[in-house]
Amino acid sequence: SDHQLQVPLHPSHKDWSAHFPAFAEDLKSGTKGVEMADVGCGFGGLIMSLAPRFPDTLMLGMEIRPQVTQYVSDKITGLRALSAKENGDKEHKVPAKLPNQGDGKGAYQNASVIRANAMKFLPNFFHKGQLKKIFFLFPDPHFKARKHKARIITQTLLSEYAYVLAPNAMLFQITDVPDLYNWMQMHLEKHPLFERVPDEELSDDDQAALSCVKSETEEGKKVTRNGGGRQWATWRRIPDPTT
Ligand code: SAM
Repeated sequence: SDHQLQVPLHPSHKDWSAHFPAFAEDLKSGTKGVEMADVGCGFGGLIMSLAPRFPDTLMLGMEIRPQVTQYVSDKITGLRALSAKENGDKEHKVPAKLPNQGDGKGAYQNASVIRANAMKFLPNFFHKGQLKKIFFLFPDPHFKARKHKARIITQTLLSEYAYVLAPNAMLFQITDVPDLYNWMQMHLEKHPLFERVPDEELSDDDQAALSCVKSETEEGKKVTRNGGGRQWATWRRIPDPTT
């Protein structure tokens, strides 16, 4: 339960250097911080696919299940070690299977995961306006009406997400459950701080992110295998109205 979770009292109390040791200096000087968050990341497929595409961006998976969080953490550690070995090994004759970060450290230094209840504690981890992209991919549907309040997108939670998102930051969501899709659309359309961006109007970076959203998570792959349909939408965080 939540009392076992480690939650910083304030984002400035969180020391991210253990998560991103290769970026420790930048984190300390405040020139870098986490800019992408995958809420309910599951087995981490999105973070793993985005990390090499955005090598200078720190990204974080947030997952409530301890064993799943540990799996993602171990996987990142393994990928970092493998990539560092391939980058450092001058005798290596076969082409590197993993992308080179260009700084000799290897890839995946910019990816990490924490165990957290993202429905409760997001503003404890992130400053106002810190995040540039946030992802809600195949969230738990909570089908029964009395369970709807447990859904990861509601008016109240959207206000919290808006708080940690930078002006013009992007929110990505996808689901294979039509009822949940309608629910998320309804809440996002109603919320004054989000506006929908049609796929064809997305920036190149956001198009790249969206293609990972659609195909790179474990849940997404399962849906594809089972021939299920998926619905997605991308939303822009509208800047606060100036008064
Ligand atoms: N996004 C992943 C994917 O597409 O493969 C996982 C989807 S899975 C259906 C939903 C995940 O959200 C589960 O791993 C679950 O443990 C996690 N989760 C549910 N509520 C959460 C919360 N409040 N905070 C963090 N993670 C949560």
